[in-house]
Amino acid sequence: MTARSVPTQVLFAAAEADPYVKIGGLGDVSGTLPPAIARYSDSQVDIRLVLPLHAPIRERFDSLTKLGEYQLVAGDHLETVEVYIDPENPTPAYFLDGEPVRASSGVYSTDIQRDAAKYVFFSLAVLGLPDFLNWKMDILHANDWHTAIAIYALKSIPKYANPAIKTILSVHNLPYLGEGSQSTLYSYGVPPIDEPLLPDWGRHLPLAMGFATADLIIPVSPGYAAEILTPEFGCGLEPLLIHRKDCITGITNGLNTDLWNPITDPMLAETYDPTESVDGKTVNKAAVQSRFDFEINPNIPLITMVTRMDRQKGVDIAIEALQISADLPWQTVILGSGDPDLQARCASLQQAFPGRVAAVFGYENALSHLLYGGADIFLMPSRYEPCGISQMISMRYGTIPVAHATGGLIDTITPAGNLHKGTGFLYTPNEANRLAETIRMAVEAFHDKETWRGLQVNAAAKDFSWKNSARQYLEAYHKLLQHPS
Ligand code: ADP
Repeated sequence: MTARSVPTQVLFAAAEADPYVKIGGLGDVSGTLPPAIARYSDSQVDIRLVLPLHAPIRERFDSLTKLGEYQLVAGDHLETVEVYIDPENPTPAYFLDGEPVRASSGVYSTDIQRDAAKYVFFSLAVLGLPDFLNWKMDILHANDWHTAIAIYALKSIPKYANPAIKTILSVHNLPYLGEGSQSTLYSYGVPPIDEPLLPDWGRHLPLAMGFATADLIIPVSPGYAAEILTPEFGCGLEPLLIHRKDCITGITNGLNTDLWNPITDPMLAETYDPTESVDGKTVNKAAVQSRFDFEINPNIPLITMVTRMDRQKGVDIAIEALQISADLPWQTVILGSGDPDLQARCASLQQAFPGRVAAVFGYENALSHLLYGGADIFLMPSRYEPCGISQMISMRYGTIPVAHATGGLIDTITPAGNLHKGTGFLYTPNEANRLAETIRMAVEAFHDKETWRGLQVNAAAKDFSWKNSARQYLEAYHKLLQHPS
């Protein structure tokens, strides 16, 4: 960015951010992107993070300090917004509390009305924060449906409107549209959007309202940016998105390369540099094999998945493909939590293949590190994948991804055809047979030591740092401020 005498002031609003609370990739991005932007902007951007004060944050971070409170006019009543700050974070991080936040115990719940009440409150409360801080917001950077209403309100609702503030909506997961928000929006005096390109059912959905009004829409990979313009991935919003395509630009996420570093990772059984040698990887593999009572043998390919148990992630396709390819002597560990039906199917797979399959249900960060370090092959049969972080982590650990050719997986994995560049295996269509064939190809490659080593070195040497992404976001901020609306 060109030097400005006053830094550009950006408020980054999200539902989750590592290390405060992380459920999935949004937490990784919101925890890592703001500090990366601050670092690479040379102090030209003053970026601040704001999250709801979710119960798990309140319980775990007792150093948060209360700054004060303000009132949010919500329809015909007032809601009190309490503001907290983390005094230990060099990137200012604020937390907003209020009755709708306290009414919910986790980050997301299965009750869509409860989530709607929390995130509509949070989105509108965010708009009062700059005045409370006496800090001028140049750009509001919102993420997913949870904060999209802040953009809509800023652009379209007279009591919140401020045309001088530019807005960005990053899209991490389009199918979560914010359903169930209608009555809460009504009670806060936020009318449905009058947008003829939206179907009737979309006019009161927070994400759709954000899409219609954001100055810039940033899906988290160029591949996903193109996909959301199609009926297959656009969830019925594609006519509006096609109309707005000049305002859509994909930026691939980076990875926290300090946190995910096999050379220093304290959660590994042994650290290693996969570009130099895989001796350490073999120690981690043996640790995984021993932990799950598998045969301890470096020549048996160890396949893993670390994932939310959700239809999106294709766990069902993986289970079927593993059954089809069961004549191969693989071992498999699946770590995940979520959909009880998918968990039950993983448990059945474990029963069907004793000593070869282990299924672990829960969110286990330390085990995930060991699996990324110890596995040979990482499965990612996602039905759609806006960007995906797990495949980047696995490559950094010299673990070769086998992934459906979709969205960000295409942008981040170089197909194995080329020994000098390949970093993984991509397949399509996303059917169990095709995945089973691709597992077979990967296992053949695994037994060809030279080919495998080439893939591991290429994968581990790929640059997944936030530097590139942060620079592209800085460019986007810069462009927005150059163009008055
Ligand atoms: P998504 O955001 O769609 O869930 P990503 O691949 O972008 O998928 O990010 C998933 C992140 O969550 C990765 O860091 C992955 O290691 C982590 N993760 C997912 N499930 C678990 C689990 N059960 N235990 C530990 N970490 C998990």
